[in-house]
Amino acid sequence: MIETNPNEIVIVKSETSKIGSVDFDNLIFGRVFTDHMFVCDYEDGKWQTPQIMPYQAMTIEPSARVFHYGQAVFEGMKAYKDDDGRIFLFRPDQNFNRINKSAARLAIPEFRKDFFFEGLEKLLKLDSDWIKPGVGNSMYIRPFVIATEPAISASPAMSYRFMIILSPAKAYYNEPVRVLFAEKYSRSADGGVGFAKAAGNYAAQFYPTSLAQKKGFQQIIWTDANTHEYLEEAGTMNIFFRVNDTLITAPNNDRILDGVTRKSVISLAKDLGIECEVRRVSVKEIKAAAIDGSLKEIFGAGTAAVISPVSAFEHAEEVYELEQLDNSYASLFKEKLMNIQHNISEDPHGWRYEV
Ligand code: PMP
Repeated sequence: MIETNPNEIVIVKSETSKIGSVDFDNLIFGRVFTDHMFVCDYEDGKWQTPQIMPYQAMTIEPSARVFHYGQAVFEGMKAYKDDDGRIFLFRPDQNFNRINKSAARLAIPEFRKDFFFEGLEKLLKLDSDWIKPGVGNSMYIRPFVIATEPAISASPAMSYRFMIILSPAKAYYNEPVRVLFAEKYSRSADGGVGFAKAAGNYAAQFYPTSLAQKKGFQQIIWTDANTHEYLEEAGTMNIFFRVNDTLITAPNNDRILDGVTRKSVISLAKDLGIECEVRRVSVKEIKAAAIDGSLKEIFGAGTAAVISPVSAFEHAEEVYELEQLDNSYASLFKEKLMNIQHNISEDPHGWRYEV
């Protein structure tokens, strides 16, 4: 059935649903997708009428520039359902602005705000049964843009596809993670694309991360490419250090992704009267604090895991173990954020956005 609605988004509904075959108690992150997807093509210098259609494989020519030059950007966000069945997003304007910042850096045309919000909201409503209530349950939302023009000259494409796909999720990285401070490889460079959610930033991390994993560390904390002396962020999370009762996190720059969770933690710390220093933080300082006992916690902050405590770090072949505290800042921020996201607590900053 094809319906044309007043907002022009064409909706083609799936005749059957896969939902009955999904084991929602044992979801592996990013493996299962809902019944529908949002698609909008850029042709002739503008974004064409968007469509919501059944989730399906698609045909793209082998010469499409995305396959050759990695002209692709994406976002990661979540929707939550409360016990009354109301659906909420968390600061979605931040993700919309960020995908367009990423797009601009990769010479991809910016997407339309009205299409983004109307498309996302209609998609979530259509696949609403897939969003389960309960803290820890969420719908992971993956908007992305790829260069589809079939032409392999190394220049920006003339045609693109913007899509949104949805994957039901449980909170993951529940266990504290062991991390390695980068000494050789770098994630990003000055003047580069580190601040963008460019697909290639992630591909470039797979190899060094696999080396870290062989040594028993799940994640790398990236350091600045010039000196490897300053700690910047993890592969998919920003990073916080707690020295005594003060939080420290690196300032944003063109090498670091401007994380929504990071900026929310900084605001919550302020609300709670916890001092939070946004400044360069050196490997040397953190090692010294680990040795003298003033380093209380390290945790990552990102949409997927919300807050991810670190149990140990390695640098220069030395491993530093961190005792897990009962009243950690990590668990405090995780609870505060999840309560806002799931419509359990007050939302003093207006971060919830009802769909
Ligand atoms: N850094 C990187 C490199 C990331 O991919 C992510 C995940 N988007 C983050 C930090 C955390 O950002 P956010 O809190 O917006 O998810």
